[in-house]
Amino acid sequence: MKLSQLLGTAFECRCGRTHRLPVRKFVYDSTGVEQLPGIVRDCTDLASSLRVAVVADARTWEVCGRRAFAALERAQFDAVEVIVADGEHGTPICDDATFGMLLARLRGTGPGIVVGVGSGVVNDLCKWTSFELGIPYVVVATAASMNGYAAANVAPTVGGVKILIEARPPVAVIAEPDVIAGAPQEMISAGFGDTIAKHQSNSDWWMNRLLLGEYHCDFCASIAGDLEPLYLTRPEGIRERDASAVGGLFAALFWSGVAMTLMGTSVPASGGEHLLSHTLDMIAMARGHEHDLHGRQVGVGTLLSAALYEEILRIEAPTLRPLPPAIDARFWGTGPVVEAVARQYEAKKDSLEAVQRYLMQQDGWNRLRNHLAGLPRSPQTVRDWLQRAGGATSPEAIGCSKEQLREAALHMHEIRKRFTVVDLAWMLGILPDSLDEIMQKWLSR
Ligand SMILES: [Zn+2]
Ligand SMILES: [Zn+2]
Repeated sequence: MKLSQLLGTAFECRCGRTHRLPVRKFVYDSTGVEQLPGIVRDCTDLASSLRVAVVADARTWEVCGRRAFAALERAQFDAVEVIVADGEHGTPICDDATFGMLLARLRGTGPGIVVGVGSGVVNDLCKWTSFELGIPYVVVATAASMNGYAAANVAPTVGGVKILIEARPPVAVIAEPDVIAGAPQEMISAGFGDTIAKHQSNSDWWMNRLLLGEYHCDFCASIAGDLEPLYLTRPEGIRERDASAVGGLFAALFWSGVAMTLMGTSVPASGGEHLLSHTLDMIAMARGHEHDLHGRQVGVGTLLSAALYEEILRIEAPTLRPLPPAIDARFWGTGPVVEAVARQYEAKKDSLEAVQRYLMQQDGWNRLRNHLAGLPRSPQTVRDWLQRAGGATSPEAIGCSKEQLREAALHMHEIRKRFTVVDLAWMLGILPDSLDEIMQKWLSR
């Protein structure tokens, strides 16, 4: 069956679960914006006099928002322009304050549907507010920068802490190839970093199935794998904005978001490699400086995860170390951030103990090595992909110092309760012992 036939359906999966996919339409076509009014009508079953809020930021309004607005007006919709204000670093942010302002504006407008025009932040804000208002949402994507378009989750900053909110995915995702290929280079390379992360996150997921009996779905883990040759056989195509490479990447990002929606968690697309990016974001927020795009940081995290796996799988007979009993509270400071991190780490302790028990069994280590054989990509491969696609492979390339990256790498295992390769590296002493060597070897150019 073709993947597109799953849109808008519930289906019995060979994993034994029934998966639901509320996203009903995926359009990647030069007529995308022209198709918008018809899609809004089809996806909402509402009359043509409906009020539609077209939400964009100052830049995405010019890229696609104005055209989307005009197309809706031509089709007799009552379109209302809503521009999300920029934050202090020049672009909007997804936090509780911005959410509150947008929600008030939308409440005052009273739309029957929200059309978001943008990528990461605008998509998250529109998904979040439309969910809060209980109305459907359509996104007109402006960049292949991340995999959240078809996902149900929103990852805002609330009270200074990055949290995850379970909302609802859009009913349709629309994009035009020329708009996606014309987005800034750093956004396309960010999407590339976010999509190659799945080789590492899938390794974590598969590892947790063995060590912790975590539920695993082969279909969700391998969804859209046949798109990979389009952007991985010749990753230069991403840097050169080759139409088939960028189209393949955008589709891979869409389906990666779908996998998260089907699973109801971010597990198919996010593992230890994502922790580096989340930690860099949290540090930047606490210290009031900027950070790079999610996917560019995730690319560096993917390289680090690949290097950790390589070191781990090389070990013949492990000596397990006791894990740090608590988080490094001094690093996180005081207030809600340190409390949130401490709660996550505390919640991980049972898994850490269970993994240690597993690995201490006769043959436990060999079973794990065999189970993972051939799954994580080598750091050589990941670095090669990133460099050829124009992604970042060093701290400098994501705008942070070696010391900041080192600090993030040494604290990233504290922020999430789920077991990942980063925890395993701590158990085996690769962290902290070999971090400097790994950074020197893999993350210095
Ligand atoms: Zn399944
Ligand atoms: Zn991501």
